[in-house]
Amino acid sequence: MPEPTAIDFLIVGAGFAGLVAAERLSRAGFRCVVVDRRGHIAGNAYDAIDDAGVLVHPYGPHYFRTNSPRIVDYLSQFTGWHPVDYRVKSFTRGRYWSFPINLATFEQLIGREATSAEFEAWLAEHREPVETPANSEEVIVSQVGRELYELFFEGYTIKQWNRHPRDLDASVCGRLPIRTDRDDRYLKESFQALPAEGYTRMFERMIAASPGLEVELGTDFREAGGRWQWRHLVFTGPIDEYYGRRFGALPYRTLRFEHESFTADELAARRGISGKDGHWQPEMQVNYPDPEVPFTRIVEIKHATGQDIDASTIVREYPKDWTPDDEPYYPVPAPDAAAAYARYAELAATEENVSFIGRLGTYRYYNMDQVTAMALKEAEKLTARYASEL
Ligand code: FAD
Ligand code: UDP
Repeated sequence: MPEPTAIDFLIVGAGFAGLVAAERLSRAGFRCVVVDRRGHIAGNAYDAIDDAGVLVHPYGPHYFRTNSPRIVDYLSQFTGWHPVDYRVKSFTRGRYWSFPINLATFEQLIGREATSAEFEAWLAEHREPVETPANSEEVIVSQVGRELYELFFEGYTIKQWNRHPRDLDASVCGRLPIRTDRDDRYLKESFQALPAEGYTRMFERMIAASPGLEVELGTDFREAGGRWQWRHLVFTGPIDEYYGRRFGALPYRTLRFEHESFTADELAARRGISGKDGHWQPEMQVNYPDPEVPFTRIVEIKHATGQDIDASTIVREYPKDWTPDDEPYYPVPAPDAAAAYARYAELAATEENVSFIGRLGTYRYYNMDQVTAMALKEAEKLTARYASEL
């Protein structure tokens, strides 16, 4: 076995967390190596052209959004943007509903046109106020009452998490906006856009801009660990895995993705449903809250990417509990899971030369912009700490 090669940083994971940290640290003059056990960069944000020629998000739809101009400025060094107003529908009681809840949803519920004032009065009558919502049931029922909660949230949440909304943090269902005007955009943030040529291309440019950065794909940390001798390790994989699950596995939810592609002729035959040629369904995402339907949502990402292609691909998402053969897509945002994570976080806090960042490294239900912010902050801290050793 040859001697390990000395480097400044070994970075485990080539997703948002790992590559943003790697870019910053390389540009600061450190020698960095990134390893990822998957055969591609970009982590769960990876996008690629499928067999039908459609640009897809194989690990579920990734809608970039942020309120932070700093994050947009940072990423804009590596990509242009394709602005998107992400739009979603919910399918229940045999029909498509305007979603997230807004005035049009209310009009569908009562079967006639209405005003915002009428909807507000209806909500005032139906909501069950609580001062500080403690869980995902309370956060929705306190805003819209039980009927709309049961229609759109209860069944979907139980399928997605295999837990009752009562047993999940308020922030889970509280992510979704509820509006009394006609704004039906799915997200709340001020900046909503996709990287113009996709996430993978954005990260290729980020790597190209990182002097001397080496990226090893198809490489697990356990294997790479013997070949590199690092000053500091940045770990963006699951924190419980790093510690050999010594306090037990943390709970994760995972997804099975079922892809289906359609030709132009097949899509034309669905025009009455999709409302336009070249598409299978009316919006980029349709949520299915009904318990009888085994999947949670169908995504047709072409609506969002705006790709000019006759074919289209849809992806159905089937949630399930994580096993060691699965990708751990979602940390579970709930008090018991947070308590289990706290034991690992305590160990992590004693590490001198290891940083844990990212959605899995810190066991947080974080979006891409939040992970970017975390990686920028950690890179700044590490640069200051090791600057004198350059
Ligand atoms: P990841 O992207 O998971 O990267 C971690 C990488 O580490 C992986 O590639 C993994 O292979 C690698 N790794 C782990 N362990 C090891 C090891 N031992 N050795 C080598 N490599 C290892 N965010 C949004 O902002 N908008 C969205 O619309 C959105 N939609 C989502 C939909 C789904 C279905 C999912 C699952 C997530 C979604 N997210 C979304 C969240 C987004 O994916 C994350 O915020 C972001 O990708 C996290 O980046 P990361 O680098 O922390 O983790
Ligand atoms: N949710 C729901 N009904 C919906 C959409 C979302 O009950 O139609 C709840 C569900 O618990 C979900 C959470 O709101 O996990 C956040 O939804 P989002 O679409 O942001 O989830 P993600 O894209 O992260 O899977």
